[in-house]
Amino acid sequence: MIQYLNDSMTKCRVDILTIFPDFFRGPLDYGIVRRARETGLVEINIHDLRAFTKDKHRTVDDRPFGGGEGMVLKPEPIFECLESFGDVASREARLSAGGKQSVILLSAQGRRFDQMLAAELSTLDRIVLICGRYEGVDERISEHLADREVSIGDYVLSGGELGGAVIVDAITRLIPGAVGNQDSTRQESFTEHAELTGDGPSSTCVSGGLLDYPHYTRPADFRGMTVPEVLVNGNHEQIRRWRRKTALAKTLRNRPDLLERVALTAEDSELLDQIKRAQSALRETGQAPSLREIDLQKINGTS
Ligand code: SAM
Repeated sequence: MIQYLNDSMTKCRVDILTIFPDFFRGPLDYGIVRRARETGLVEINIHDLRAFTKDKHRTVDDRPFGGGEGMVLKPEPIFECLESFGDVASREARLSAGGKQSVILLSAQGRRFDQMLAAELSTLDRIVLICGRYEGVDERISEHLADREVSIGDYVLSGGELGGAVIVDAITRLIPGAVGNQDSTRQESFTEHAELTGDGPSSTCVSGGLLDYPHYTRPADFRGMTVPEVLVNGNHEQIRRWRRKTALAKTLRNRPDLLERVALTAEDSELLDQIKRAQSALRETGQAPSLREIDLQKINGTS
């Protein structure tokens, strides 16, 4: 077992069960996750499932009953690894209201991971991630051990390790204290309900479930590519309105499905109308068939 940290201040303990423990040496060693581990906000333990086998070949997989291609991860090492912790709540307790633990099986067949699930998991104090390999994991893990199956997207990966790292990263940055300015995580893409604490333009535009607005930094003019004028004029209200408008434009362009789900304000509807009018005006001039080609600077005016 690789133990990254064990500190009495730890707020969330994550145990990852895998047949490739070294896989996690890179992804969890940088930036916010590293700092969160070092400051005790999160403790991450990686467990090698082969350590829970009993035969001399340390066998973790076997052929599928009923025939077919590939190998399946055996149930015994996974059950025994989890049982060795000694303090994981029963499946019933985990599933009950107020449960603070979750045992998650990474699976392409699981519920799709999203920001809402990341926020929910970031409030737990114990998470176990089971990484599958080969054709998958013996179904008894899903039926009797894990309390949920989670997929990181509609595609098939070779193993659950990448998904496990994705989940740990997304959860960790939502734990209070993990990111220097917590308001920044509350304003990000997909974040629906945010109460901000700061003042000024940096905290005047929560995404409200939309995609994030575009960000720019110095230099203001890079090879003739300039940043939108509105961002350098210091008018906080214009900046807020520009950010909302460009967040709406990006969402309409890249993820129109999100617009069906968020509660749009009267201002949002007005800004969306402006965006759509600009889009059809561009289409009429034959300049651009879709929002992808629309220069956001041309539609970001406050009029
Ligand atoms: N036979 C499985 C299927 O068709 O759904 C795919 C097995 S996949 C090759 C091996 C392992 O990778 C899975 O057991 C799971 O742990 C992981 N995995 C694959 N795709 C994933 C995804 N989209 N999200 C999370 N884990 C995934």
